[in-house]
Amino acid sequence: MNLPAASSAAIDWAHVRADFPLLTRHVHGKPLIYFDSANTGQKPESVIQAVDDFYRHHNANVSRAVHALGTEATDAYEAARNKLAKFLNVRGDELVLCSGTTFALNLVAYSWALPRLQPGDAIVLTRMEHHANIVPWQLVAQRTGAIIKVAELNERGELDLAHLYSLLTPEVKLLSLTHVSNVLGTVNPVREICREARKRGIVTAIDGSQAAPHRALDVAAIGCDFYAITGHKMSGPTGTGALWARREHLADMPPFIGGGEMIKEVRFEGTVFNDPPHKFEAGTPNIAGFIGLGAAVDYLSALGMHNVEAREQELLAHLNEALSQVDGLRIFGQAREKAAVVSFLVEGAHAHDLATLLDLEGVAIRSGHHCAHPLMQHFGVPATCRASLAFYNTHDEIDAFVAALHKVRKLLG
Ligand code: PLP
Repeated sequence: MNLPAASSAAIDWAHVRADFPLLTRHVHGKPLIYFDSANTGQKPESVIQAVDDFYRHHNANVSRAVHALGTEATDAYEAARNKLAKFLNVRGDELVLCSGTTFALNLVAYSWALPRLQPGDAIVLTRMEHHANIVPWQLVAQRTGAIIKVAELNERGELDLAHLYSLLTPEVKLLSLTHVSNVLGTVNPVREICREARKRGIVTAIDGSQAAPHRALDVAAIGCDFYAITGHKMSGPTGTGALWARREHLADMPPFIGGGEMIKEVRFEGTVFNDPPHKFEAGTPNIAGFIGLGAAVDYLSALGMHNVEAREQELLAHLNEALSQVDGLRIFGQAREKAAVVSFLVEGAHAHDLATLLDLEGVAIRSGHHCAHPLMQHFGVPATCRASLAFYNTHDEIDAFVAALHKVRKLLG
């Protein structure tokens, strides 16, 4: 790949697409149209090669061996941390590497919230959260006696900010919300929200799973206390992710998981823990995965996240226009600021039937509750279909998807 960093229009997106081997596949005899990137992203050749190269030429454990391979593995693993930190505009020593957003939010829940919250305290969430940003807080609330309050949405599927701010009362200790909704695509104004929370002394955690793959991020500028990301949605391997946390929180938080790597000295009388972020990284990590994630960050950085965002917005505009020609379609969420994710239902058809028939046309979309039961309850439906795009998709794929949708609609009749 030889990418100009200029503008989205200057990039040869067909050339970029060719970096993703899986996208040449056929499914049920039809060319694959992969519209499920919010679920997991496809991987460019450079990421696949980085993982392969590690196992072929450098495989060793990190931080343990003084031999050459051990040093190479440790250096490559730490280099990946630093690449990711630069990508997010945070410090490497404030970035805990972990298996993904689910682990990252549980780390905040168990290590920051559990020792602090008491009966009478409150946690504020929003109606559009993924279960990964609901269930850990319920578990903490059950154990501490804290309560959970929920900020509701307006008719566009945006956060009702007046309602959210009205919930930020003195008993609230933590506000945890998603940057971008995995179902509606809504982009939340996290900078403004974190400013309001901070004014009231409330700690903020942001679920950045759906933001990091699609937007240029400056986590330091958001003003949050915690920011969670997941590598597999940003062209990296599965089982990789990170939690960024302010240094003062990391210093105060007890370890969440104990074991090797996270200690300086172990005696039966007591253990001296390693410094953050290693204090939170017990056991052998997913070394190859993080090296792959480092390659993914290199790839996205070379592309330029502003270019990625511009490309995806252009694809979203096309998708919206094409879907407006389909009769009987209900679209969920019309946020003014929206990522390239469209949830929909076709009148009279079950989401899974629609997705199954589209699959036979080669189109991979997700159907179901998208790990967002409370949002489904809000809309009064058990499930939706979701088409989620990435920069490697094409205008032709959108046309083929909408043509397939017309065909399937007729079949379901
Ligand atoms: N939060 C959001 C908004 C998501 O979309 C997802 C994944 O679907 C997660 C959290 C869970 O992330 P992970 O796959 O890293 O556990």
